[in-house]
Amino acid sequence: EYELKDLANTFNDMIERIRLDYVKQKRFVSDVSHELRTPISIVNGYARMLDRWGKSDPEILEESIEAIKGESKNMQVLVENLLTLVRSDNQTLEFEREKFLLDEMGLELIKDCRLIDEGKHTFESHIDASIEVCLDYSKVMQTIRIFLDNAIKYTPEGGKVSLDMTQLGQLVEISISDTGIGISKNDLPHLFERFYRSDESRTRETGGHGLGLAIAKAMIIGQKGIIRVKSKINEGSTFVITLPISCDELRDKG
Ligand code: ADP
Repeated sequence: EYELKDLANTFNDMIERIRLDYVKQKRFVSDVSHELRTPISIVNGYARMLDRWGKSDPEILEESIEAIKGESKNMQVLVENLLTLVRSDNQTLEFEREKFLLDEMGLELIKDCRLIDEGKHTFESHIDASIEVCLDYSKVMQTIRIFLDNAIKYTPEGGKVSLDMTQLGQLVEISISDTGIGISKNDLPHLFERFYRSDESRTRETGGHGLGLAIAKAMIIGQKGIIRVKSKINEGSTFVITLPISCDELRDKG
């Protein structure tokens, strides 16, 4: 009797997992379609406008070309991001490890931020010297950029963005914090989900698809790291990435 009950429970658990996977899959497909619908309609609309009036009107021609270029770039980024996530799901996301100085990368990133931001925010960094790591250079850079971009996007002008890097034995802690709008308690558990945006209308303006944090998480987990977040509405957010610094700690896991 007990064994049958165990078997039935296991079976029910399995069916529930399959059902949840199915629901997730369906939501993913509908989210992707939703994200593609807007840029496709815009490209289509401008192409038709060009066809009707634009051929001889330089102003319409210019406006349409710019819009089509912008929207197709938008779709390209979306598709590349989706491919990264699919590769991560299939465990085929490749990590090319190499030795490099993480502190130099950090300083470079902060320099880039200051340059692009044109004085709208204050940038600070507390970075340990000579943090030699053996990780995927471009994926680590892309990951930190995602958090820095968000920190800038979600912090009103005049606010502060900080990047700190601390070596703790065989680990390195990278912290990106801001004094921005913060994230509500309800949103926090969903933050790293695909297509999750805590305020759709606001993020539409900033151009995000809600994939940045999902990608960052895939890249961190793929390099055996962890990510934590602390945030308070109207006070700011802190994201802390912990990564192993040595090659030995890593395995091609995807
Ligand atoms: P997006 O491209 O929309 O920014 P992300 O996956 O990078 O997508 O972020 C998901 C959502 O998490 C954002 O839409 C935003 O609501 C919230 N978020 C991320 N980083 C921050 C931050 N530093 N401060 C406040 N909200 C944030």
